[in-house]
Formats: sequence, C-alpha cells, structure tokens
Amino acid sequence: MDASCGILARYRDWMDLPPHTRDLDLCEGHTPLIPVPRLARRLGGGFDLYVKYEGLNPTGSFKDRGLVVAVAEAWGRGAQAVICASTGNTAASAAAYAARAGLRAVVVVPQGKVALGKLAGALAYGARVVQVRGSFDDALALVREAVARFPIALVNSINPYRLEGQKTAAFEIVDALGRAPDWLAIPVGNAGNITAYWMGFQQYHQAKGTGLPRLLGVQAEGAAPLVHGREVARPETIATAIRIGRPARGKEALQAVQASRGRIIAVPDEAILEAQAWLAQEGLWVEPASAAGLAGLVAEIRRGRLDPRGKTIVVVCTGHGLKDPDIVLKRHEALPLIEPDLDALQPWLMT
Ligand SMILES: *Cc1c(COP(=O)(O)O)cnc(C)c1O
Repeated sequence: MDASCGILARYRDWMDLPPHTRDLDLCEGHTPLIPVPRLARRLGGGFDLYVKYEGLNPTGSFKDRGLVVAVAEAWGRGAQAVICASTGNTAASAAAYAARAGLRAVVVVPQGKVALGKLAGALAYGARVVQVRGSFDDALALVREAVARFPIALVNSINPYRLEGQKTAAFEIVDALGRAPDWLAIPVGNAGNITAYWMGFQQYHQAKGTGLPRLLGVQAEGAAPLVHGREVARPETIATAIRIGRPARGKEALQAVQASRGRIIAVPDEAILEAQAWLAQEGLWVEPASAAGLAGLVAEIRRGRLDPRGKTIVVVCTGHGLKDPDIVLKRHEALPLIEPDLDALQPWLMT
C-alpha cells in the first residue's frame, strides 16, 4: 500500500521512525485551521484566533495522527495484533488503523465511562472491546501487564511513535501561519498531545527558525493532577477524553509547558460546556474535552492573566462533537411533537 494522502506521506522525513515502519494511511491530518474572528471579539478583540479542528480526522479525533504511525510501525515489526487502554478515541482510532493494516485490535475501556460514538466506532471497525471495572488508569495498568506477557503491540501514548505522529499537527499550524502562534491552548489528559506539539514546534524552530508558542494546557477541575501536583485517584469530569488521574506523559508535559513559559490550569465542567456552546455558535461542534482549551483561554483572559492583544492564538479542538451526542441531548428539553399541519408548526417559525 502506498502512503499517499496522510501524515506519513507528507512528513515522514521529519519523524524519527524505524526503517521497518510500513506505509499506511486513511488520509489523516491536513485538518483546517479555522479563523474565528467573532469569537475573538467576544473576548475583547484585537487579536487573531484560530481553531485547529482535529475532529475532521478520519475517525473524528487527533488520535489518528498517532495511531497511523504506531500501527504502521507495529505492522512493519511483524505484529499481528495491537492493544490499547482508552477513554474512547484511541480505541476507535486503533481499531480503524488495525483494520486498514489487516491486524487484530483489542481495546480495554473503563466500564460505563466511554462516550457512545467512540464505543460504537471501535465496534464498527471490528475491535475486540473489553470493559474493566475500574478507571482508565486501571485499564492502562492492565494493558501494560498484558504486553509484557503476550505477543501483542502496545499502541497507547507511552508508545513513542504515537508522539512522532501527533507532532505533525504543530507542523501543519506553522505551515499554515508561516510561523508558530504566540499561544497554543490545548486540552490535557494523558498529556501526550501537548508533549507532541511541543516536540513539533521545537523541531521546526530548530530547522527553520519559525518561533515557539507559549503553551496553555487545560485540565478539567475534577481531573487535574498536573495542576495540583498529585495523582487523582477517582477523576471526574463530563469531558471523558481527559478524565485521567495519572497522566503517562505528565513529566514531559510539565517540562514542555515550563520551557515554553506557559502553564497548565484547571477549569470547571460548566466552563467546558460554555466553551462547547460558544464553538457551536461558530458552527463547530466538538466533544466536551475538545472545548477545554478554549475554556482555559477564556478563563485566563477574563482573569487578566493573559493579554491577547496583538497576538496570534490557536485553540486545539481535539475531537468531533458526534463522538458524544448524549451530552448535548441531555441538556435539551424533549423535542416538540406536533401533528403535520401548518397551524401546529407556526409557533416555531417566527420567534
Ligand atoms: C485523547 C484526547 C485528549 C487528551 O489528549 P492527551 O494526549 O491524552 O493529553 C483530549 N481530547 C480528546 C478528544 C482526546 O481524544
């Protein structure tokens, strides 16, 4: 198979991969960097604000950038199966790329904690989905044990090739803007993505002098181990994709944020839902975790801790709203039900 339309075709020379890595793609990457000037005005104006819309990847989240590379490497190494623990998006993505490569996929998820669209995706792509009684962190510990004992390739973000793939989003932003933005606001769960972005920005800067952004990492208040400086035994947030109490890449993320002169903050669930609604008002429906980056930016600007004037700011929206339809449906009243006649419809037409 020729990799011709995805991130391996476009950026392979910039990735540190073993030579046995196969070609593989579902045309992931080259996601749009969407200007949102009205949103910038709501925040006081005088700056350029963009959304990096990662929900437009093939399985609906940025995880595709990491999984295409991790599966391509495992496949080239002769693996016949891949395994991951997941809050959902990794599961769907691993399942899709395993299917594309002709490998088996096993995904281990925390019981009852995975959004509908993600679970359905993993099943649709043909993965074996196993629930555990426990958290994501328990699932990850179990998967680590499994790969130590069985011939199956681990594709969680502790897999180094995941980050090689994920850093391509930073390349795309710089390629689109001509230089790095001044700030990058991004949700943080297991902390692999923020680490990967920093790798990408640094690599381009070293090669081309394109500058470095300051990083604003954003966790949910009920799952903010990197803000509070300690593990969270029972993380709780409606933003399921970042409901993680023991981030695998926590140390690297803290180093990246410090080197960038940025910070990691926590926002309450209500702020995440508000940011989700603001994005939807721009025509961008993202899942709750995806809106955390914007929620963090809004909080910092409102508190006067971040002066956006004259700056270029990119908010990373990590996954599509279709992943978690329940969240939206639950927040709406029952839909009106009418007879099919115009008089009955009229009240809904003019207000
Ligand atoms: C995985 C994921 C995150 C968190 O990324 P990390 O690399 O775990 O920090 C955020 N949003 C969405 C939609 C995700 O799927």
